[in-house]
Amino acid sequence: MRIRSAAGLAALTLTLACCGAFADSGLAQVKGTAANSPISGTVAFKDVKGGLRVTAHLMGLPLGTHGFHIHEFGSCDDAGRAAGGHYNPTGAKHGDVVKKGLKRAHAGDLGNIQAGPDGTASLEAVVPKASLTGGKYDVAGRAIVVQEKPDDFSQPAGNAGGRIACGVIVIVPEVGTQK
Ligand code: ZN
Repeated sequence: MRIRSAAGLAALTLTLACCGAFADSGLAQVKGTAANSPISGTVAFKDVKGGLRVTAHLMGLPLGTHGFHIHEFGSCDDAGRAAGGHYNPTGAKHGDVVKKGLKRAHAGDLGNIQAGPDGTASLEAVVPKASLTGGKYDVAGRAIVVQEKPDDFSQPAGNAGGRIACGVIVIVPEVGTQK
């Protein structure tokens, strides 16, 4: 009985490993880090030609410009601090990866997201050479963090203040590709 259970577990693990490899969409459900924060929204991730497309739709943000970065670890605990620093697989300095590439910015350096008077903010950007899974610069299992203040692109991390919202990037199966 013990052996059969172990085999069943192994089969389940293999099944999960199998299908994860074919999924090609990622999603982070973003929530405010403070108790009773009104911030919510989604950030979608999709492998595209040339890199990883990031599409964000947030609401409940304070009016203005907020630093927006992929962080190394997939945890939003401790008011987002558990997410660690900006995802930086190339050992680069802080910058704008969308405009400057991986040699001159952290892979997670998406720059800023702008919230309007109604608290909503949208962003679409492509991180060059990055991918959801399986590449040298993959982001699944990491976290996306929205910051209190603008990223001013100064060293070491853009001086953007506290972490007001956070979401872990998870893989979601593509609808319509299941057979
Ligand atoms: Zn950075």
